[in-house]
Amino acid sequence: MSRPRAAKYTGYPRVRFGSIITTYRCNAKCNMCDIWQHPTDPKTEIGTEVYSKLPEMDAANVTGGEPFLRKDLDDIVSVVKERAKRVVISSNGWHVEKTLALFEKHGNSIGLRLSIEGLPKTNDEIRGMRDGFDRALRILTTLNRMGVQDIGFGLTIQDWNAEDALELYSLAKMMGMEFASATLHNSFYFHKQDNKFEDTAGALKTLHTIAEDLLKSKRPKDWFRAYFNYGLMNYLQGNPRLLPCRMAHDAFFIEPNGDIMPCNAMDKKMTFGNLRTEAWEDIWYSQDAETAREAVRSCEKNCWMVGSVSQEMKKRIHKPLAWLVKHKVFRKPIQVPALAQHHPNYILDRGGPPAAETMHHELLPKGIRKRHRKGLKVEENADPAKPEQVEV
Ligand code: SF4
Repeated sequence: MSRPRAAKYTGYPRVRFGSIITTYRCNAKCNMCDIWQHPTDPKTEIGTEVYSKLPEMDAANVTGGEPFLRKDLDDIVSVVKERAKRVVISSNGWHVEKTLALFEKHGNSIGLRLSIEGLPKTNDEIRGMRDGFDRALRILTTLNRMGVQDIGFGLTIQDWNAEDALELYSLAKMMGMEFASATLHNSFYFHKQDNKFEDTAGALKTLHTIAEDLLKSKRPKDWFRAYFNYGLMNYLQGNPRLLPCRMAHDAFFIEPNGDIMPCNAMDKKMTFGNLRTEAWEDIWYSQDAETAREAVRSCEKNCWMVGSVSQEMKKRIHKPLAWLVKHKVFRKPIQVPALAQHHPNYILDRGGPPAAETMHHELLPKGIRKRHRKGLKVEENADPAKPEQVEV
């Protein structure tokens, strides 16, 4: 164990963020994620005796797959709550009764983000779940009546839902709920290397509109969300991250089998220990962990996901603050970042299959399947080579 060497990277003993992938089983069939085709065997999924070995964290995200497929989710949440100051569950919003029961017990001590990918038709098409929107909305409205506060929408913007994303944002705002935006990534975790945009103009326009609107808010949290949305625009244009990535330095992912990884966004899985067989400190201060940190520091994927961004925004707050002074205080309009020559996440590679062809037609209900075949609507005259011309 080489604690002092690792400490210079980690700031021993603080771990800011842990993403807990409880299972790779999933009942959704999203077009941008193939996890559902690679389910874990429940017998191989670690339980609370292993989760109790997790370090103390500022925040933890309990995710999947679909975490509500874990029969012991309540027990897992109880254990993770003891390790993390803040716990948020990410779910596809299908399991109404189970979700409500969990929040009846844990109330405002945990949060929830439901992946809703658009208005009802778009959401159900993207997720391959009939009535998926209805169920997710029922969960949110019921939790709202129950007085649960840390709840909201999570949306991954792509060609298919670029227009709907704005409606969802407005709906979340009207409901007084959080709206967490993301966009397409390719990685081993998603089992996808063919997520692509046909045309980023629609997504850029939506993200720009949301960012400008968030800046008008009276809540400082919304101003930083505006910066995050600007970071998404920057990512879509293929540019280097606005903030460095320091996964594995003070944040980690844990797989359903206990493997510890820097992140879920690399092309190939990188593991630097297993919590089932090792103690946390032996993993975190190991030579393998330092090798992973070196890989992160030299990683060029430039992804922009909340897991690898939120703690960097806090640590390097001068950067978002400088952006806010410019755009919030001096009201300088937000510009769409310039388009880079290539995209490290391949999402702008026009040689590959379009997003519509990555939909899982054969697994969708008949009516939805038919609508998929009609393909994507691409705005006429959109010129993704010149995103600066996006009208806002
Ligand atoms: S930029 Fe960071 S989060 Fe993205 S793949 Fe590289 S190490 Fe992982």
